[in-house]
Amino acid sequence: MSNVFEYAPAPESRSIVDLKPSYGLFVNGEFVDGHGSSFKTISPATEEVLAEVAEASDVDVDAAVKAARRAYNRVWSRMPGSERAKYLYRIARIIQERGRELAVLESLDNGKPIKESRDVDVPVVAAHFFYYAGWADKLEHAGYGTTPLGVAGQVIPWNFPLLMLAWKIAPALACGNTVVLKPAETTPLTALLFAEICQQADLPPGVVNIVTGAGPTGQAIVSHADVDKVAFTGSTAVGKAIARAVAGTQKRVTLELGGKAANIVFDDAPIDQAVEGIVNGIFFNQGHVCCAGSRLLVQESIADELLARLKRRMATLRVGDPLDKNTDVGAINSHRQLERIRELVDVGDAEGAERWSPPCELPERGFWFPPTVFTGVSQAHRIAREEIFGPVLSVLTFRTPSEAVEKANNTPFGLSAGVWTEKGSRILDVAGKLRAGVVWANTFNKFDPTSPFGGYQESGYGREGGRQGLAAYLQGGEA
Ligand code: NAD
Repeated sequence: MSNVFEYAPAPESRSIVDLKPSYGLFVNGEFVDGHGSSFKTISPATEEVLAEVAEASDVDVDAAVKAARRAYNRVWSRMPGSERAKYLYRIARIIQERGRELAVLESLDNGKPIKESRDVDVPVVAAHFFYYAGWADKLEHAGYGTTPLGVAGQVIPWNFPLLMLAWKIAPALACGNTVVLKPAETTPLTALLFAEICQQADLPPGVVNIVTGAGPTGQAIVSHADVDKVAFTGSTAVGKAIARAVAGTQKRVTLELGGKAANIVFDDAPIDQAVEGIVNGIFFNQGHVCCAGSRLLVQESIADELLARLKRRMATLRVGDPLDKNTDVGAINSHRQLERIRELVDVGDAEGAERWSPPCELPERGFWFPPTVFTGVSQAHRIAREEIFGPVLSVLTFRTPSEAVEKANNTPFGLSAGVWTEKGSRILDVAGKLRAGVVWANTFNKFDPTSPFGGYQESGYGREGGRQGLAAYLQGGEA
């Protein structure tokens, strides 16, 4: 990429990762062959095949649910919380010890920059296990009772494979549930490494089961009669299908779905910090972030200056090898996702918005999309309404705080939002009026295990993280 600064390549060594040619399923504490077929998982940066992974059939899912039920009845639900906590602490410590291995594998399989997997994903994953380990023997103080639900069936997406696993597994186990988890079909490898970590931690067999596969495997989990709780993170379309599939059953459900967050910048905002926040909001993790600040709402009086500085900053973003420590924007996770991004960007062009990307040399192999900004966007444009889930920002302007709030709330989603202003009173006023589960002020994309995360409307229901995250896994919780 043409750049003001030139860096020598600084790739992280991948030798720390022990990739096996093929992987089975993790059921009842052991790796077993599946009864179904298998699929390949590739590096999206090079299209290199990393491994062959088992596709769990209905029979395999049934075996995993049975193992989870046995472990629930015989061991896990009977164990005192203080004992469960020891396992969770042990898992958290092993995650820290094997942090580099997990980060390299995550970047290989997902395409995200190593500086993000190393400095964000893995530390936050460990923090989640530490945090919920702390709750395991204090559940009576959380306000949802102490009775677990039973077997949790958990289905997660590909954008934060390990982090979504932690958000699902840590609270479930802390509350005394056992789990059957399915990672996304394009990013199964760190979940399988996590299975090894469960073995290393001597976690009783069946407490955690990992079954790999695509949509049909997810469906088999969600519709299994002996699953008490369904936890899903992914697209709104699949979330709706799951809500329909479990309607009329006793199953409890939490859904974490898509978003189209407004990042609102007022004219008194510290402009350079706001530019950093905008860049972090939309280009972090290639924009594959459900709470990404994908709609920039900027006050009209500073729009020209802010956009000029934003473009200058975008021109310094380094796109390329996810394992290079200098890389800011890695590979798009899959060919399918790249097609989706291209399709919506074409719609933006056709709708008359003005597209800009910095000059950018993209690698020949692999899946790539340059950091992109659309100006001249109106509320009716599809690029202002639909989730692109890629490194593409849509910019709208506003004149007054009430217009900003109205535009921000004009969306079927309600997951997150950002507010940039010097005035504390304005932050409180605007944040109180935004229909979003999380509102960041003068920052963006900050994740902390103590803080609940979740949405309104089409962004789903239920909260993950914090004390509130326990509600989804205890009989006395409302979700
Ligand atoms: P997706 O819904 O296609 O897939 C998510 C998971 O569901 C995968 O594991 C997939 O195999 C599985 N699945 C697919 N069809 C299924 C079915 N019928 N029944 C059960 N499981 C099924 O989503 P995706 O494209 O992989 O992920 C991107 C989406 O996820 C985006 O819309 C994004 O906003 C959303 N997301 C939301 C959050 C959040 O916390 N709110 C976090 C990350 C991603």
